[in-house]
Amino acid sequence: MQTNFSLAQLADPHVAESETILRKCVHCGFCTATCPTYVTLGNELDSPRGRIYLIKDMLENGRPADKEIVTHIDRCLSCLACMTTCPSGVNYMHLVDHARAHIEETYRRPLLDRLTRAALAFVLPYPSRFRAALRLAGLGRPFIGLFEKLPALKPVAAMLKLAPSSIPSASPLASPGVHAGRGAKRGRVAILTGCAQSVLDPAINEATISLLTRLGVEVVVPEGEGCCGALVHHMGREDQALVSARRNVDAWTRAVDQGGLDAIIITASGCGTTIKDYGFMLRLDPAYAEKAARVSALAKDITEYLSALDLPEPVRKPGTIVAYHSACSMQHGQKITRQPKELLARAGFVVREPREGHLCCGSAGTYNILQSEISAKLRDRKVRNIEATGASVVATGNIGCITQIASAARLPVVHTIKLLDWAYGGPKPEGVSEEGLVAAE
Ligand code: SF4
Ligand code: SF4
Repeated sequence: MQTNFSLAQLADPHVAESETILRKCVHCGFCTATCPTYVTLGNELDSPRGRIYLIKDMLENGRPADKEIVTHIDRCLSCLACMTTCPSGVNYMHLVDHARAHIEETYRRPLLDRLTRAALAFVLPYPSRFRAALRLAGLGRPFIGLFEKLPALKPVAAMLKLAPSSIPSASPLASPGVHAGRGAKRGRVAILTGCAQSVLDPAINEATISLLTRLGVEVVVPEGEGCCGALVHHMGREDQALVSARRNVDAWTRAVDQGGLDAIIITASGCGTTIKDYGFMLRLDPAYAEKAARVSALAKDITEYLSALDLPEPVRKPGTIVAYHSACSMQHGQKITRQPKELLARAGFVVREPREGHLCCGSAGTYNILQSEISAKLRDRKVRNIEATGASVVATGNIGCITQIASAARLPVVHTIKLLDWAYGGPKPEGVSEEGLVAAE
């Protein structure tokens, strides 16, 4: 794509980066076929190509964002299906991240939208605030119907609908410390305890630590780590995202210095995509660029790490039919497609893949709150495809997808690691049927 930026504009490294990305796009439109918002809404401006044109026009003209571009960029899920499809290697992720930061800087949203976004950014990345907010959600639940009728309060209704009615206690394993591996030491890793996942389902990291230590891997929960910054990054709050990134880079760098790390294990693929991008996000910060690149290189999804270990035979072969839902951040963001399915099959599960596996479930960070109508359409389409597999449980590697799919599916939705932990001797995940369970020979 031909671009027309002035030298003065290109002196801004963010603009220069976006210009390089824009020039790679050959407007072929292949990406439109796999874009969930284009497939759902049928509007070119809600396709990757349409958004790329809008971003180009805004950046080239040095204009503040207007209502039209905000509408279409807000509707983008950042699912990155377009990046998987694009034959020209257009890095849509970095382009839309830049556009979102530009929108945040130059566009004044309506008051209620501003308040909703500020509340999400204030609450979600902090486990204690998030836990308190979930407790309060019970008080608002009777008013869901009323909130749904008022367009400006739809995000509040969506939040209340997603909030679980009971919240598990915080896990003691999430506290900073070292969990020694059993038997001969096979590795040393740090684990991201994260934010929302640690509140909604602390058993995910418990299963991860339990399985890794049984396999002989020492697991460090470093002091000082927290939210990866993805939730606010996708809202265009670049400064807040970079504060989170720097804090985590510091925490993991200390862990590397104090005993070395083979990997930083991430159990939420949305976080993994962002942490693997820390090197890029902090490239312009001389104090952090090198450390951040090292952290990104160490970041591994739990299934990526387990695939590289020489796993023993499972303790039991459950035989359960599992529909594997590949989160967008897993398949498009991190290009991890094979490992989770292979691990499940090796552990004795029968793995089925739903149709239209490339399409987002509509979760996408805060998307199911801020764009609840499109999100619900995508969720229902996903659930139909999952239920058509005839599976008795859904496995996936991202807490956002688990919450989203579970809000409409009739079968249990669990993190992949819980099924693997079960097969390798851990407890049976809640809600999963024991039918088909057979002891390994
Ligand atoms: S597939 Fe790639 S090159 Fe083609 S229009 Fe989409 S982003 Fe541009
Ligand atoms: S990130 Fe997803 S929703 Fe956004 S343009 Fe690309 S395919 Fe469409």
